[in-house]
Amino acid sequence: MQVEDHYSLLLGIQSPWEITSVDLKMAESRVDIYVEYMDSTGKCPECKNTHPTYDLRKTRTWRHLDTMQFSTFIHCQLPRINCPEHGVKSAQAPWANKQSGFTLMFEAFAIQVMLAAKSVEAARKLLGLNWKQLESIKHQAVNRGLARRSKDNIDYLGVDEKQFRKGHNYITTLVDIDQGAVLEVVEYRTEESCKTLIDKALNENQQSNVKAVCMDMWKAFYNAFSEKLPNASIVHDHFHISQYLNKAVDQIRKKENREFNTTSNNPLKKSKFLWLSNPENLSEEAKVQLNSLNELNLKVSKAWILKESFKPFWQYRSKSWAEKYFNVWYENVTKNKLPAMLKVADMLKNHIGNILTYFDHSISNAVAEGLNSKIQMTKSNARGYRSFEGFRVSILFHCGKLKMEP
Ligand SMILES: [Zn+2]
Repeated sequence: MQVEDHYSLLLGIQSPWEITSVDLKMAESRVDIYVEYMDSTGKCPECKNTHPTYDLRKTRTWRHLDTMQFSTFIHCQLPRINCPEHGVKSAQAPWANKQSGFTLMFEAFAIQVMLAAKSVEAARKLLGLNWKQLESIKHQAVNRGLARRSKDNIDYLGVDEKQFRKGHNYITTLVDIDQGAVLEVVEYRTEESCKTLIDKALNENQQSNVKAVCMDMWKAFYNAFSEKLPNASIVHDHFHISQYLNKAVDQIRKKENREFNTTSNNPLKKSKFLWLSNPENLSEEAKVQLNSLNELNLKVSKAWILKESFKPFWQYRSKSWAEKYFNVWYENVTKNKLPAMLKVADMLKNHIGNILTYFDHSISNAVAEGLNSKIQMTKSNARGYRSFEGFRVSILFHCGKLKMEP
């Protein structure tokens, strides 16, 4: 068996394509394979009909999977086909996608490596590629995946923002809650960008069949979704609501802590985590500490009790009972006269209609928040993306649940 035959089998190259020479460079651990097209006719890439060849294009090179630890390159002059209907067109190489400098097998392998690797840098080293080449494979993989995405209805969406760069640079992500997949990402968190997001992610039919959208009480999101998806309910989710309640408790703690700092004995020293953790997750020692602090009748204690007493709200089955519970809770907040807490309670009261929708749909942004930490990892792995587009592609690559193989 000739070495050319061996590589023909290995690369799956068949007539009329033929390996004419193989150049093994032992010192460089590199093998160059030269392929020629051996027919005077070929298939037009547009209509797939057979027509005469016209000429040969200049030599192109494709990177293939390493063969026995040799970096492997295919070189070939692709023929151009003269189609009476479509004109003179380059024939498609059977081992690669149009425009790609890699063979199909190499691309499929690179995608698996990038998905599994801890960082972009680790994948880059394993594959022996530069950053630009990796980004190009990723980009094409994501485009394939998006084109293949199902057009079936999506019942529940989650929309959320995330800081992109330092300062006030945000991105907005749209998540399919049932699939746990990021559908699309846009820059900024304005009403306009949110509308673009909806149009990019969903076709008209999908837009009119969404049952509910989960979101923070952010005006721009609310406006965009109520206008674009008038059939969908808005659900202000409990994840964000508990964040607001936690923030209020923390503001009150900070202020009180400052007041105590002027005295010699500050009981609130190093107590931050006690007020913000879920009490069930605290150690026995921490629980004892929290209980003794609660006996001091501090403002932060009152705020903490209000925060904790909001939790049963989510346990109701009936909307009207939940609403009654909320009204009692709201009364309690007003009696306590803690401005930071009252501010949150007023905001909740103003939005109560779209908070109570939770009892029709029971969705939350928990899935979106889980994906958010994965997005954060993507960001730190890549040591920060300079361009938004690069970041978007990476998010969809890792969190889009796309079918990306070539
Ligand atoms: Zn044609």
